[in-house]
Amino acid sequence: MVLLSEVKGIGPKTETLLNKIGVFSIDDLVTHYPFRYDVLKRSNLKEVNEEERIVIDGKVESIPLIVRFRGGLNKLNFRLATVQGPVGVSIFNRAFLKPNLGIGTNIIVIGKFDQKKNIINASDIKFGSLSNQEKIEPVYHTTNGLTQKNLSNYINTTLLKYGNDIEDKVPRYLLDKYNFLNKKTALNIIHNPPNFDKLKEASMRLKYEELFEFMFKINYLRLEKEKNELGIVRSGNRHDLDKIIASLPFQLTGDQKKVLDEIIVDLDSERRMNRIIQGDVGSGKTIVSFLAMYYNYLCGYQSALMAPTEILAIQHYNNMKNIFKDCDVNIELLTGSIAKKDKQPIYKGLKDGSINIVIGTHALIQDEVEYNNLGLVVTDEQHRFGVNQRTNLKNKGVRPDVLYMSATPIPRTYALTIYGDMDVSIIKEMPKGRKPVKTYVRKESEIKDVLERMHKELKKDHQIYVIAPLIEDSDNIDLTTVYNLRDKMNLAFGSKYKIDIVHGKMATPAKDLIMNEFKQNKIKILISTTVIEVGVDVPNATMMVIFDANRFGLSTLHQLRGRVGRSELESSCILISNVDKKRLEIMEQTHDGFVISEEDFKLRGSGDIFGTKQSGDMSFKIANLRSDYKILSQARKDSLEYLKDKNYDSDLLKQHLIESVKID
Ligand code: ADP
Ligand code: MG
Repeated sequence: MVLLSEVKGIGPKTETLLNKIGVFSIDDLVTHYPFRYDVLKRSNLKEVNEEERIVIDGKVESIPLIVRFRGGLNKLNFRLATVQGPVGVSIFNRAFLKPNLGIGTNIIVIGKFDQKKNIINASDIKFGSLSNQEKIEPVYHTTNGLTQKNLSNYINTTLLKYGNDIEDKVPRYLLDKYNFLNKKTALNIIHNPPNFDKLKEASMRLKYEELFEFMFKINYLRLEKEKNELGIVRSGNRHDLDKIIASLPFQLTGDQKKVLDEIIVDLDSERRMNRIIQGDVGSGKTIVSFLAMYYNYLCGYQSALMAPTEILAIQHYNNMKNIFKDCDVNIELLTGSIAKKDKQPIYKGLKDGSINIVIGTHALIQDEVEYNNLGLVVTDEQHRFGVNQRTNLKNKGVRPDVLYMSATPIPRTYALTIYGDMDVSIIKEMPKGRKPVKTYVRKESEIKDVLERMHKELKKDHQIYVIAPLIEDSDNIDLTTVYNLRDKMNLAFGSKYKIDIVHGKMATPAKDLIMNEFKQNKIKILISTTVIEVGVDVPNATMMVIFDANRFGLSTLHQLRGRVGRSELESSCILISNVDKKRLEIMEQTHDGFVISEEDFKLRGSGDIFGTKQSGDMSFKIANLRSDYKILSQARKDSLEYLKDKNYDSDLLKQHLIESVKID
């Protein structure tokens, strides 16, 4: 295996930057796919309107002048000679380019054209000229200090030198059957597309590979489960469980009762449970899992609940302690940030069995953790890491039952495929008395009205979430960012109300600190990206404002909206967007996550049911479960045949794929 550091040009510093964007191996590097492509095609300046993104090439015709502003801002102004005549170019914060913009330099300018002033307000400048054909440029997610160009160079160097060593996850006979490009060629095209036809061909092949690998693993897990999945047989006493249920401050809904019964049947039977509870945010999945863990305890076994973040783990821990305060069940919390010396007694308690239920993060599956008789593992939120991650649980003899909880409702056909190795329980019914979150779609020009509504909520001492699609400015895209919203909100409310931000690039302790202050009502307005999506419970937050809402899939919006409306208080959600009104209005009309996800699947557009990578959803690097369903079905069929065909049992690829997913 070639190391990143062996690639020409990648030193330790670059390696750290690459790690930051999730690239740890040359395999990661060459599959760091562009998240979009820019088409560079010379615009006709006579025909464009003000809003449109334009591309034009030409020669620098005057020495660029730098204008400097307060706060370190600068602007570069110069004239450009184009085939359509001379135009002015103005660009922010590129003073550093000046030495490279000598008179006569060929450049390509991207931006918006102000016809009256004959000036291009540029968002980007590239060196070179455009031919008469369009040029397709990949755009990558990257990080400060690593330019698009660097990234592209590293990728291409790697492909050139090591492209043939990159493992293909599709068996030979299928490559032949579909007449697929070889992997190196496909990767080359994805990163340097000569035209859209080729790009489509390459992307199809890579999508197939990704889905093939995924479905192979799901199929493998399913077959294993059918073959040999005996678990614990329990004969618990429902009576003690029913006592607890009767003591809850509310009545379980019909769906909650039904799902709990399904789980208990599984737990009692000798079949090992592998079940997922699907239900909207706030539908009460968590309490069902608590009751299942309690039942498991009554039967004499330990339980572990794994949450995706520390905040959530603590939240669950406190809730559970509270619900079971009068029982003698011993519940503990175990997360990564607990001091080493405080972990020791927990490890000990888990090993000797004196701890009955443990709630935590990934710390629960560290090597040091040994369980006495772990009977049930619950995994919270859609983190369905199951497929790629070995459940690394050191247990004494018994094979635990497994329960997942997911707040991403998906249509049945999809559920059957991607959760093909599990049984699915659904909670549709919402607890009584929930007020639906009133949802409104508004244009940017109506911002004043939005700010007034916000002010009203703040005056009632309620809290507000404000969501932006981006963290900081990025080239070419004109979107609201967390940082510019902070400035705006500070201007409007900063003198009276505490405002802060949280986003996915912040370190976990910093994030947790801010989330805790928000929970304690110290922060009144919390501005964030979609990181907020993952199950945080702040009942006093009654309003959410989402900027550039059209950038999000309906399911993501629905998940986001689920952060408010978590108490008897009246809540609202405002979606701000100048476009895409019709799609967004579905959010005004329905609160049923299943209906919304169906719509999301039906509609073409930017909707993506599995949200963004940031939200920690199951995500693919190139495939998209919604638009690539056909490929998925084919890959599912093919991978099952391959898996079952004994002729291929000694295939290295097959062994390798199985090895990477084996669980015990
Ligand atoms: P989920 O995990 O599905 O997002 P939770 O289990 O966190 O939802 O439930 C959200 C809130 O609703 C919690 O405060 C919980 O105590 C409460 N709750 C759960 N079930 C009911 C019910 N049947 N009636 C009233 N409130 C409920
Ligand atoms: Mg069982």
